[in-house]
Amino acid sequence: MALTFDSFKLNKAFTPTLKKENYQTPTPIQEEVIPPILAGKDLLGIAKTGSGKTASYVLPILNRLQKKGATKNRHIEVLVLVPTRELAIQVGEVFGTFSRGLPERIKTFAVYGGVSINPQMIKMQNVNVLVATPGRLLDLVKSKAVHLSLVQILVLDEADKMLNLGFKKEMEQILDLLPNKKQNLLFSATLNKNIKQIKKLTLVDPVVVKIEEEDLSLDAIEQLYYSVSSEKKGPLLRSILNKYKGQQTLIFTSSTYQADNVFDKLRKNGFQPSVIHGKKSQGARQRVLNNFKNGDLEILIATDLIGRGIDIEKLPLVINYELPRSPKDYIHRIGRTGRAGNKGIAISLITPEDEHHFKVIQKKMKRTVTQLE
Ligand code: AMP
Repeated sequence: MALTFDSFKLNKAFTPTLKKENYQTPTPIQEEVIPPILAGKDLLGIAKTGSGKTASYVLPILNRLQKKGATKNRHIEVLVLVPTRELAIQVGEVFGTFSRGLPERIKTFAVYGGVSINPQMIKMQNVNVLVATPGRLLDLVKSKAVHLSLVQILVLDEADKMLNLGFKKEMEQILDLLPNKKQNLLFSATLNKNIKQIKKLTLVDPVVVKIEEEDLSLDAIEQLYYSVSSEKKGPLLRSILNKYKGQQTLIFTSSTYQADNVFDKLRKNGFQPSVIHGKKSQGARQRVLNNFKNGDLEILIATDLIGRGIDIEKLPLVINYELPRSPKDYIHRIGRTGRAGNKGIAISLITPEDEHHFKVIQKKMKRTVTQLE
């Protein structure tokens, strides 16, 4: 039988927020991870996004901070490292949401590159929980805006992605700045060689929690594909969008160039999409993502930049205009739909050249995708 949030020894002050956020029962990862984190144990959590893993560490961490006194200035107590700005903002928001209403004030803050550093330096005063991308964190350390020597809890979120993105060196530098004695929490979608290495570097006698491969969020996604030549992709995309008119749609391309191209073509054909990719300014990316999350924007074209971790409530449709190279990225992309108990549809446009690769993807995810005529 599923536990309730009441069965954890969490502060009662969280109850109204859990209710407001409509968290009725803990997800499987939350059931397994909250008690050992509350008990101060090191932890390795293997779980995909959409599993509720953010709250699985946010709640017990905030709970543990309750009993602490005030921080020494610019000495943070909790450091959460994430691979992308978008995830930094999102995790920062979850900390913000759950720290409101607590009896003791806990200041949480998210920092990331691509925006001016000065405002971040000023706001670093009295921060308890810092969510950061590695590069920007090191910049802030260099300018003495933040000190890491009193960190009590370290979280590495989406650690597999961080290592893939080549943050290894920066992560090593950061680990060197942190005290040896602290609680270490490592989360990753997969358990590969890199993760095992990082595990050795950071974790002491950890509790290992693996949420089984069979991913509930994939079960909620109806996966479909069309066979199509490259030239006919544009008209096919438009007919799909017409068919699902009025429903929010996220379209993935594999390059910035193609994202802009699809954007231009849709605009010329009377659609009103927005586009998000790494060449857009941080402000523009944030605005577009907010509009999409709020439901003010119907069609969003994106690269894999937002393929991972980003949570759009009740997104009904994902379209792969192009396939990603890695099967993992495919799963992350379609996992933007079918989240938190909602159903979703993922449609891929497959050219003859893609067919072999698409078979590999299906084999890796142990599911077959239904062809549409
Ligand atoms: P995450 O895997 O952390 O990205 O979370 C995926 C989504 O599930 C987010 O929208 C969370 O707000 C939501 N969520 C997390 N835990 C619960 C819960 N216990 N009940 C309902 N929704 C949840």
